[in-house]
Amino acid sequence: MLTAEQREIRALAREFAAGEIRPHAADWDARRELGAELFGKMADLGFFGVRIPESYGGLGLDAGTFMVVLEQLAWGDAAAALVASIHNGPVTELMVRHGTDAQRSRFLPAMASGETLTAFALSEQGAGSDASALATTAERDGDSWRIRGSKRWVTNGRRAGLVVVFARTGDDTLGAFLVDSDADGYTVAGQERTMGLRASETVSLELDLRVSGDRLLGDPTRGYAYALQALEVGRLGIAAQALGIAQAALEHATAYAVERKQFGRALTEFGAIQAKLADMIVGVAAARSLAFSVAARRDTITVGGEDPAPAGSPSVAAAAAAAKLLASETAMSVTDEAVQIFGGYGYMRDYPVEKLMRDAKGTEIYEGTSEILRYVIARDAVRGLGEQ
Ligand SMILES: Cc1cc2nc3c(=O)[nH]c(=O)nc-3n(C[C@H](O)[C@H](O)[C@H](O)COP(=O)(O)OP(=O)(O)OC[C@H]3O[C@@H](n4cnc5c(N)ncnc54)[C@H](O)[C@@H]3O)c2cc1C
Repeated sequence: MLTAEQREIRALAREFAAGEIRPHAADWDARRELGAELFGKMADLGFFGVRIPESYGGLGLDAGTFMVVLEQLAWGDAAAALVASIHNGPVTELMVRHGTDAQRSRFLPAMASGETLTAFALSEQGAGSDASALATTAERDGDSWRIRGSKRWVTNGRRAGLVVVFARTGDDTLGAFLVDSDADGYTVAGQERTMGLRASETVSLELDLRVSGDRLLGDPTRGYAYALQALEVGRLGIAAQALGIAQAALEHATAYAVERKQFGRALTEFGAIQAKLADMIVGVAAARSLAFSVAARRDTITVGGEDPAPAGSPSVAAAAAAAKLLASETAMSVTDEAVQIFGGYGYMRDYPVEKLMRDAKGTEIYEGTSEILRYVIARDAVRGLGEQ
């Protein structure tokens, strides 16, 4: 159940997505970039400061409301939601949790106003699921750090003003660094040619640069733990993105099935199509219910409340992994069925569902593939047994 405030924000975000995002989504997808004007409009609504405390100029909203906003943005265009999800999710989480007072005062207001967009550069050519295998290094050099290496698949990596770069600080340790994208030695090596989410900037980076000591985020040996922690809220954001994609596909498929006639009857009169629509509706409702209950649980714990989940429940990290797993796999199956309901037209670029299917696939890959999420959930259950 959404609160009155969440319903109000959902209505605002839906109106924005319907008026300012959805009408342009196909064009942006074809051009492989979001309209430049979108960023200013999102900033005006505070959508770059969703989870930044009000004292730093943000909206200070909880994880559930963050998901409400992202689901609606994704309903408009999943690429717009991905941009907002990385910025408001893992990057904001890292800065709020681990930034020094000076770092928070310096960066959070500009992040909240949308003046500074951010990116999260963890993955590399040889280190995706296994982030502990990073080859990028950060060597201490007096008061500064020298960072050298290459990054892949960095969402917002060109447009962002500030990038959190993870790098090896020792044989078994990673650190997280706040890097300006206009620093000498920060090079965008290329834009990835993605299957879906084409309007979202996904770039590779070459890094050979220096940052001063005050650009280190938290402890120089705890970067790996920070990345996993940040992905907890990040995964709730991706769950919301997947829900927005699935909801859009469901709505398009239902409207089409009502309108399209074969054998003298609307598609909705055929049992096979009714079964598809029913399964899509149940899938989306179940995925939404799980995702919002995990967010509410996390919010309750964050403000010091008692964990509302029954004893023996998965940890919040495993629950967030489960929320993303169910939502992304639901988005994939729902968009697949939506294309099927549209028949030959569904396979055409002229109709919206093929794009939704391409976009849905991404949600099964980034911020933890489905295989890794299953591993996280199962490992948590085994550990839980050991603790009983
Ligand atoms: C559109 C897009 C945007 C992205 N944005 C970002 C970003 O902003 N920042 C960032 O840092 N990264 C980003 N990524 C990268 C993304 O997080 C990685 O692609 C993802 O973590 C998987 O890593 P990989 O591609 O190296 O696959 P691999 O890790 O090589 O995995 C390949 C396959 O093997 C499976 N696999 C791997 N290990 C195991 C195991 N132990 N058990 C079972 N199966 C396993 C995987 O599930 C997968 O199916 C983005 C990716 C995409 C596609």
